[in-house]
Amino acid sequence: AGAATPQPPRQYKLAPQSELRVEVLPDAPLRVRLVTGTAEIFGTELPPEGWVPVPPRSKIAVFTWHGATVELDGVSESEYTSDETPMVIYVNTHAILDARRARARAAAAQGGDMEASQGPRVIVVGPTDSGKSTLCKMLLSWAAKLGWKPTYVDLDIGQGSITIPGCISASPIEKPIDIVDGIPLEMPLVYFYGHPNPSINADVYKVLMKELAKTLEKQFSGNAESRAAGMVINTMGWVEGLGYELLLNAIETFKANVVLVLGQEKLWKMLKDAVQSKSNIDVVKLHKSEGVVLRNSKYRQKTRSFRIREYFYGIANDLAPHSNIVNFSDVSVYKIGGGHQAPRSALPIGAEPVADPTRLVAVNISTDMIHTVLAVSYAKEPDEIISSNIAGFIHVTDVDIQRKKLTYIAPCPGDLPSRLLIASSLTWYEA
Ligand code: ADP
Repeated sequence: AGAATPQPPRQYKLAPQSELRVEVLPDAPLRVRLVTGTAEIFGTELPPEGWVPVPPRSKIAVFTWHGATVELDGVSESEYTSDETPMVIYVNTHAILDARRARARAAAAQGGDMEASQGPRVIVVGPTDSGKSTLCKMLLSWAAKLGWKPTYVDLDIGQGSITIPGCISASPIEKPIDIVDGIPLEMPLVYFYGHPNPSINADVYKVLMKELAKTLEKQFSGNAESRAAGMVINTMGWVEGLGYELLLNAIETFKANVVLVLGQEKLWKMLKDAVQSKSNIDVVKLHKSEGVVLRNSKYRQKTRSFRIREYFYGIANDLAPHSNIVNFSDVSVYKIGGGHQAPRSALPIGAEPVADPTRLVAVNISTDMIHTVLAVSYAKEPDEIISSNIAGFIHVTDVDIQRKKLTYIAPCPGDLPSRLLIASSLTWYEA
């Protein structure tokens, strides 16, 4: 296509309950402005005045409940309006959740038990590109607009929206999600899996979910407000075989009581049979929006790379990472799940060798680590690594075997907060 041809600013008059769908190019800035009426982007209202920059590569919808005129400035990849959206169904779902939050809060005020004072724990499931992350954002932003502080839990290690790929994480959402900055990063709780695909070591994925759930449970038990607000849990788009098993596992681990199934009848039916009949879990089928943009695996891979880059350089390219050098002896790098089982000869007679999939293995620093991401653990001892969350990430830029020195970039200057690092298969190549 070559260089984008300039487009003059243009206005769209949106009828009530319709939306303007826009795809932003990677390198052409685009901004949007509300001219009249009210409109929102995935649950967050556009300010009444001023231009809002839309992040590069994003695919958004500017939706209006009551009608609006909006203006676009800059070149887009595509833009069109549609009046066929599932937004009424989504907002009705929000209203039901809201009533449950109010009920939980009232119960807490009357000294109700843990069960009664627990707000909705919503888990959103569906195939890739069914609009899961988008629905999560809307539910969170609508709840936050009403003053709730729900917890966002992101179990999508492939295309997560809280931090870099390869992690499962949680963050309280205290105000509608910022259109430009996304999920707030002040206090996310992050556990590091280290790969974009759960099948590499599904047992570790399950253990990390348990750890995250345990930590959240602890936080909720001391905080009636966040308990009543509940959780919104985003999941991976893998819904068959092991993927399906992990969904069941997530529902159980986080004690979800509402399952929202997007865009797949079969998955809805399966989950309904598997969980609704046995417990008080509502399994609800929701329409997928036609606006959701399909992304192929190459695009996904690219997005993962950009997410890593963003961690160090900022979404708007406004951060400058710090380069640093450590001696090999100053850090210890571990891998979770070595997969090596004990040799038969080392076992008692008759015992079958079992691989411990969550075993911690020390790894030697090598040039293979160049371009990979290492997580900095909050653990004090190696055996606490799997149950500890993550302080942050570094990106290895060089390994000098002879001088035994590792060069990395980090978002902050100064010493690493811990010497215990976790290796990963996540790579990013600085262009
Ligand atoms: P999933 O989480 O199921 O993989 P996402 O919610 O991430 O799907 O949606 C895929 C892409 O489509 C995202 O880039 C998202 O911003 C975009 N998108 C979702 N809904 C709309 C819409 N109504 N109009 C335009 N783009 C949308």
